[in-house]
Amino acid sequence: MTRKLVAGNWKMHGSRAANEPLLATIHQGRPYDCDVAVCAPFPYLAEVALAFAGSELRWGAQDCSSHEQGAYTGEVSAAMLAEFGCRYAIVGHSERRQYHGETDEAVAAKTAAALANGITPIVCVGETLAQREAGQTEEVVKRQLAAVIHVNGHCISEIVVAYEPVWAIGTGKTATPEQAQAVHAVLRAQLHHAASEHAAAIKILYGGSMNAANAAELLAQADIDGGLIGGASLKAPDFLQIISAAAR
Ligand code: PEP
Repeated sequence: MTRKLVAGNWKMHGSRAANEPLLATIHQGRPYDCDVAVCAPFPYLAEVALAFAGSELRWGAQDCSSHEQGAYTGEVSAAMLAEFGCRYAIVGHSERRQYHGETDEAVAAKTAAALANGITPIVCVGETLAQREAGQTEEVVKRQLAAVIHVNGHCISEIVVAYEPVWAIGTGKTATPEQAQAVHAVLRAQLHHAASEHAAAIKILYGGSMNAANAAELLAQADIDGGLIGGASLKAPDFLQIISAAAR
């Protein structure tokens, strides 16, 4: 069985006063029998890195530029992140697709930039409620992942995939374990086609209102290899409970 990964996505939340006790509690609870990472806003990454220094806990960014360097005001390159020991970068989160117009091609290019700099991209895919209701879930997630495979096929075994149904993010509505597993199985088959024997080892996380109460059941599904956790990663007891559900 693959060692699970629980990654917190703080989104645009946090403050120096709130971060410190949260990070200290996560650090105190270790060692964990799963991989644990925190993806924080850029200004807080140094604080997370310092809090986790010398431990197996990892940290990541919530985005990275597809460009190496240059006149791209406001962007942060994967090379800059790598200089500080960044392990993960979330790419293609639905909030970036929705509010920043990120296309499948842009997400594929960001994935390539992360990989080129030794950062594991957490590639997010997921359908909207309208797409699910129109029976397009499979088609949408396959199209999103195919764009990433098209550009990064040679090193596709290095990515982490996160299935995040858009209708479940921040809404309190979670996909049922069966709904999530069905999509994860589709993604696994697609990865198998692209990476044959390596596909089983590629982590496919579920994200979308995962919390202390529903984590165990979701994480027990055959193709769910961990969680990408938004709201619940900001509350230490909830995040620790999800981690212990993943470590079972
Ligand atoms: C996310 O933002 O990646 C996410 C899964 O959020 P939430 O857990 O709050 O639904």
